[in-house]
Amino acid sequence: MHNLAFKALGYSGCYNRYLLEDGSKLKESFLALGLKGANITVPHKEEAFKACDEVDDFALKVGAVNTIILKNNKLYGYNTDASGFLESIKEFREFKKILILGAGGSAKALSVLLRESGYEVEIINRSESKLSYFKDLNFKTYSFETFEAKKFDIIINTTSAGLQDNALPAPFEIVTSLLKDAFVCIDIIYGKETPFLRLAKEQKKITKDGSDMLLYQGVKAFEHFTQYQFNNEEITKAMKKAFIIS
Ligand code: NDP
Repeated sequence: MHNLAFKALGYSGCYNRYLLEDGSKLKESFLALGLKGANITVPHKEEAFKACDEVDDFALKVGAVNTIILKNNKLYGYNTDASGFLESIKEFREFKKILILGAGGSAKALSVLLRESGYEVEIINRSESKLSYFKDLNFKTYSFETFEAKKFDIIINTTSAGLQDNALPAPFEIVTSLLKDAFVCIDIIYGKETPFLRLAKEQKKITKDGSDMLLYQGVKAFEHFTQYQFNNEEITKAMKKAFIIS
């Protein structure tokens, strides 16, 4: 995505992968590699937040950074995951009640921005211990044990269940009861059909995977990397070609 956009827009840049073994070495690795910017993915977004000298207001609220740029010898951190996700669900604006499955970094970012954008958001997670962040922010939360059947318009899977296995994000009975009344089911995993989305499709629900979130978080990261020199539509158009090629 980024390399296609660099090329299309005539910007001298190169985007590559680097496997960071130890998240606590993020800053020194970034500087040693001579980078000007980076995206950070699972499981280092919280370490990335800590590594930054400055973060924007939203990243500060959610404690996770997925985009870093170097400016005046300082690392600036942003979170473009949630704004990318919001952009990707514009078509579902009429639905308001959302249940988020999962309580990791993505769930934190999405829940805060979705609520700020006018959605009613509740959270369910496998481990009770991960729910404290959400409770402190007055979100209604459930563990699998405390969940009570209820109607939600949109169900969003932010867990990694189904990424490298064939698991559903919650026990079958909970997932099917959620699907029964939902209009839209979204999985932020991309590049494969998860068991959650497969089940939702079988139930004839509107479904969406994480490809558009990936695209739009990338567009927003690119704007930071290139300091807003290009317009959003141009970047989006160039990046979309990556999905056709792959
Ligand atoms: P985290 O590791 O921070 O959180 C993972 C969450 O998944 C936790 O709540 C964990 O629950 C839950 N979980 C993991 N396995 C299972 C399982 N088998 N059953 C039920 N719950 C499970 O990850 P992130 O929030 O950073 O990322 C989550 C997913 O989102 C990843 O698959 C990633 O690929 C995808 N993603 C997609 C993006 C996109 O652009 N489309 C952007 C960012 C992420 P517990 O607390 O119990 O361990």
